[in-house]
Amino acid sequence: MSTEYDAIVVGSGPNGLAAAITLQQAGLSVLVIEGHSNTGGGLRTAELTLPGYWSDVCSAIHPMGAGSPFLQTLPLEQFGLEYIHPPVLAAHPFDDGHAAILKRDLTETATLLGNDKDAYLRLLEPVVRDWPGLAPDVLGPLHFPEHPLNMARFGLQALRSAQSVAKGFRTKEAKGLWAGMAAHSLLSLDTLSTAAVGLVLMANGHLTGWPLPKGGSQSIAAALVAYFKSLGGKIETGHYVRSLSELPSAKAILFDITPKQLLEIAGESFNDLYRWQLKKYRYGVGVFKVDWALNGPVPFTAPECRQAGTVHLGNTIEEITRSEADVNAGRLNDSPYVLLAQQSLFDPGRAPEGKQVLWGYCHVPHGSTADRTEIIEKQIERFAPGFRDLILDRHTFNTAQLEEYNPNYIGGDINGGILDIWQLFTRPALRISPYRTAAKGLYLCSSSTPPGGGVHGMCGFHAARRALKDLWHINVPLPRKA
Ligand SMILES: Cc1cc2nc3c(=O)[nH]c(=O)nc-3n(C[C@H](O)[C@H](O)[C@H](O)COP(=O)(O)OP(=O)(O)OC[C@H]3O[C@@H](n4cnc5c(N)ncnc54)[C@H](O)[C@@H]3O)c2cc1C
Repeated sequence: MSTEYDAIVVGSGPNGLAAAITLQQAGLSVLVIEGHSNTGGGLRTAELTLPGYWSDVCSAIHPMGAGSPFLQTLPLEQFGLEYIHPPVLAAHPFDDGHAAILKRDLTETATLLGNDKDAYLRLLEPVVRDWPGLAPDVLGPLHFPEHPLNMARFGLQALRSAQSVAKGFRTKEAKGLWAGMAAHSLLSLDTLSTAAVGLVLMANGHLTGWPLPKGGSQSIAAALVAYFKSLGGKIETGHYVRSLSELPSAKAILFDITPKQLLEIAGESFNDLYRWQLKKYRYGVGVFKVDWALNGPVPFTAPECRQAGTVHLGNTIEEITRSEADVNAGRLNDSPYVLLAQQSLFDPGRAPEGKQVLWGYCHVPHGSTADRTEIIEKQIERFAPGFRDLILDRHTFNTAQLEEYNPNYIGGDINGGILDIWQLFTRPALRISPYRTAAKGLYLCSSSTPPGGGVHGMCGFHAARRALKDLWHINVPLPRKA
């Protein structure tokens, strides 16, 4: 039977675009269908507050993008992508007015942690050394790795809870910095495997940085789209797919969506077991997001914060642990862990001269529609007195508004599903290949597949690799560094 396209990708987030590129690179004809009026999914930048203030609607900082084994193989600079590296990758201020920081240099970061220098090096040095060899295996489905011993060493640390790893530190600085990193998991810090997120983010920081794309996160999407089109790929926007019958004929359809939507669109094509597995898929806590237009830089007490692309607010590990435990138990916390990004400090084109944009969010219970603006601003004011006086305008998203903006953020979950030990490699279901659905030719390629949330494109790459092998008998090698 002849088909209109070899493959269709529904959704143009980083994973949809990575899948489309992988298929197009193999010589297939590929159509991407995006529901929104423009491409990019979690990679969009817009004037959310005042004219001339360019805020990242979703993702802002890209340790996983810069370090992605797949994205690193693409000529994205030739298509306009330029990463900016702030001098301090991430800063973590304390109530006493000073801050712990993550710098690109491993030894410098360790030395700044004083009495925890050796503990930091013991934890991070092996990961930083082994990560380039491990990344293609860790950031994918379960399989026999190329470096089994290194993988075992990494796994023994990564599968621990962040709280248990923190016991190796003595100072409040190292404990706080570590807690802020591990809390990116959106899980309670006593949960197994929360160390993985902290280790991967810190190791990527030391290896490839925590950069922001010049012009905003949309520049990553723009470069991916331009490269895809240069290979001959086609894109249709403004078409939210509601049923399989709306799609042109194709041998493979890859969905950059989550299991809940997949059930709605293609549920009838699946057997009972797979439908049951998808229904049981678990989503995690949500986020409440705020973007500000400011009259000047955030007046942080700790000078290091004024040099940082990312700032984690939450003071001690004890406070962050409480905040994340509360949210995961369905309670709002009034002293939340807050993530901030200060893009215009390093990319002046993002705001009018002398002005700034600020991006931030805190975690909230799944589906919460509570307004956390005041609580977040109070937390910023605590570490930057005078902050409130600088606010010219703000824009907020609660979890329902986020989901309305992008239907992949179910209940405000930005990771496409809980990233705990049970759903780390088996998302969305326990199967030989998590990317293959129960219907021939239908694949899932979103962050609801391994390795999960973040802008890295690895879910899309692996899903396309699976489809190429199943349907065209084409073997695409893992992107390993020579
Ligand atoms: C507030 C926030 C902050 C974040 N910060 C960071 C960060 O700093 N760094 C980082 O690495 N990650 C961050 N993330 C996470 C990151 O954005 C996501 O993990 C990533 O975008 C997931 O990529 P994806 O391709 O799987 O899905 P998405 O990026 O969500 O893309 C899915 C696309 O599919 C489209 N779609 C959905 N349903 C349909 C349909 N039925 N028909 C057609 N199209 C459809 C959507 O419109 C969307 O464009 C953040 C996310 C949020 C929300």
